[in-house]
Amino acid sequence: MSGIVYLVGAGPGDPGLMTRRSLELIAQADAILYDRLIPAGALEGARDDAELRYVGKEPGAPALPQAEIGALMVELAHRCIRVVRLKGGDPFVFGRGGEEAEVLAAAGVPFEVVPGVTAGVAAPAYAGIPVTHRDAASAVAFVTGHEQEDGDALDFAALAAFPGTLVFYMGVRNLASIAERLVSAGRDRDEPAAIVERGTLPGQRTLTGTLADLAERAEVEGIRAPAVTLVGEVAALRDAIAWLERRPLHGRVVAVTRARAQASGLATRLRELGAEVAETPAIRIEPRPLEGELLEALSRIREYALVCLTSPNGVRLLFDALRGTACDARALAGATVAAIGPGTAAELDAHGVRADVVPERYVAEALVEALARVQVDGRRVLVARAAEARDVLPGAMRDRGAEVDDVALYDTVAEPLGEAERAALARADYVTFTSSSTVRYLADSGAGPPEGARIVSIGPVTSEAARERGLTVHVEAERHDVDGVVAALVDDALERRGAPA
Ligand code: SAH
Repeated sequence: MSGIVYLVGAGPGDPGLMTRRSLELIAQADAILYDRLIPAGALEGARDDAELRYVGKEPGAPALPQAEIGALMVELAHRCIRVVRLKGGDPFVFGRGGEEAEVLAAAGVPFEVVPGVTAGVAAPAYAGIPVTHRDAASAVAFVTGHEQEDGDALDFAALAAFPGTLVFYMGVRNLASIAERLVSAGRDRDEPAAIVERGTLPGQRTLTGTLADLAERAEVEGIRAPAVTLVGEVAALRDAIAWLERRPLHGRVVAVTRARAQASGLATRLRELGAEVAETPAIRIEPRPLEGELLEALSRIREYALVCLTSPNGVRLLFDALRGTACDARALAGATVAAIGPGTAAELDAHGVRADVVPERYVAEALVEALARVQVDGRRVLVARAAEARDVLPGAMRDRGAEVDDVALYDTVAEPLGEAERAALARADYVTFTSSSTVRYLADSGAGPPEGARIVSIGPVTSEAARERGLTVHVEAERHDVDGVVAALVDDALERRGAPA
């Protein structure tokens, strides 16, 4: 009995362009053979016990010969149930997927082909170039520029006469000779042309020109593989419909220092605005064990007249702890529940509790104000949150006669930066700080923001912490939440670019 091999296209590089089917198969695979040009994180969903084999080219070292890849696939198919052969772009577009399918067919190994988004369509699309257009091109040809090396595999007369867009997949090395031969064969030297480097990836670059001058421009600008070159009237449409490069944060590297578990919301927003996000978490959240004052507080949870929560994490961990004592949301039934901001309120909502009090501004002082009308004199108040938090809220409640339990649900601890993260941080144009602990721990780790990077702070408390560590705060959010950080950062980027906000 043989397993099955899936020849899967992973798309051109943007992880978001991987198909559902590809992700499904990666998650199920017993073994995955993968190439170099697959998206970052493409294998994240693989099983822990899956056998992962890199079969692509290492710079400076030869690739595994195609015959060996074929033999390996067959061997794995005999040993495993599901084998994924993961390739960049589409497996059947210059990916040698056809040859691999032939090997499998000849060996009698069952296989399935899962198409992917091919670079020749995706890279131009991200550059604002449609490969066909009713007015400009009614046909498109995908051409490999590599075959040039071993002779005249390409029919330049036919390509020159081709009535539509030519898309070349190739190293930049062959560009000049291909352009020359197209012109000699009669293609218009003034025809618009474009080259897209690292299409759909952070740092995508596009150059436009004419068939005659593109190669030289690419040389001057130092365009490198992977890149696709496109020849056709459609290249001129880019002026009107380029969209990626017009995003406010395009070309900016933004470091996110908050805990990895909390980073995704901010990171997603920044990416949508065009930024390349460097996840450089300076902190990690470590839940406190269910003992000591936390356990005591939970054992009298029903006695609190007021329960205050100051972060979505706090909410999550409070409910985890409640579950640990065999309680649920009903334990809060008798209490007034206060959330410091909408994120915290949303997390409460997700646990079945509607916050009674949410201040307009998301700082402790504002929460104190918002709580002015809540009766606390002589009553028990629970403030459940991070260890080492400020005393503003518990202090104010005590001043009003409350009996306050200020209970730590978690500690914020330093998360040492790895080598890759340090390198990413060093490239940052912006470094975002969403709490004073992110500032403190990053500064103490010795990996501060790079020279020239702009520092973005979520609010005055974080800014103060930054200044205490000798950092200049360039941008401070008006709204002290993730949306506020994003808005302030975008304003700054637009201002510095000189574009209208
Ligand atoms: N099967 C792949 C192509 C493999 S050949 C596909 O369908 O996309 C490798 C060539 O694809 C590279 O030399 C380059 O020309 C092109 N390519 C792959 N990824 C690219 C990217 N992100 N941006 C631009 N070109 C890319």
